[in-house]
Amino acid sequence: MMQAIFLEAPAKINLYLSVLGRFTTGPYAGYHDLDMLMQSISLKDLVTIEKRQGSSYLTVAYPNEVGVIPEDENNLAMRAWRLLQEKYGLPEGIAIHIEKNIPVGAGLAGGSSDAAAVLKGINQLFGLGISLEELARMGASLGGDVPFCIYQGLARAEGMGERVTPLPALPSRDCVLVNPGISVLTSEIFREYDIIEKNKIAKDKHSFGGPFSQLSWEQVDQWMQNDLEAAAIGRYPVIAEIKEDLAAIGLHPFMSGSGPSVIAFWQGATERKHIEEKIAPKWPITVFCQTI
Ligand code: ATP
Repeated sequence: MMQAIFLEAPAKINLYLSVLGRFTTGPYAGYHDLDMLMQSISLKDLVTIEKRQGSSYLTVAYPNEVGVIPEDENNLAMRAWRLLQEKYGLPEGIAIHIEKNIPVGAGLAGGSSDAAAVLKGINQLFGLGISLEELARMGASLGGDVPFCIYQGLARAEGMGERVTPLPALPSRDCVLVNPGISVLTSEIFREYDIIEKNKIAKDKHSFGGPFSQLSWEQVDQWMQNDLEAAAIGRYPVIAEIKEDLAAIGLHPFMSGSGPSVIAFWQGATERKHIEEKIAPKWPITVFCQTI
């Protein structure tokens, strides 16, 4: 019987995020109805799960400054374990160790990815034989981004994120992630979004318009949008400053999720050099990564 398992928990970026409205009834009442195009990137947390005698616990290591997360039962990874433990009557205990590389509260679904890794890891470690679809369904109760994090890669996620359609992978692309070193609460940005929307006269709501079959990077670039950007910038003007800096070196920056992380695709040695010389020294977190 397997005693320990090691998993990678990649961050995600939103290539497209549209707020279609808000659920007034059903299990997601109060949540916003979203249409998103999500993509995993090479920046990842490393998660180790080990069976042990006695009680369960969680530890976290921080190789770089990315913010801190709870090390108790509130950690999403721990909540993922408790969810399966309860449902399948699994015995205590396990030790979860997270090497935290994904900036916290950054719009990169770090917590959701850790939780998804634990759901998949426990499934394997205890030989539960749960399908990905079922893991994703259970994961939705932990957070809207968990179902996507179960599948990873490129996918469309709708509703509060619970309806995931995996899409064929696009060629890997180099990107840079810039973060001002602040943690943002997703709920705060949605509140701000609601205030802005209430005061708008014309409302422009639409789902992703690109063709999902045969999606290409050209189409993604053309359709790129994030409805939460104005709200996030309203609360944290520093996001606009990062975007201006990236635009000034000729890139096309966009915000991920509810921010504050800003992403830009780049190519060639000259663009990389500009990022290294003009962006990295100025902002607390600059990470070179690829789509995966
Ligand atoms: P969202 O999925 O809401 O867009 P995010 O990517 O912006 O989230 P996360 O890094 O997932 O942000 O963290 C959101 C909150 O979840 C933080 O306040 C953090 O304290 C809490 N949290 C609990 N467990 C974890 C975890 N394992 N990793 C990161 N955050 C966690």
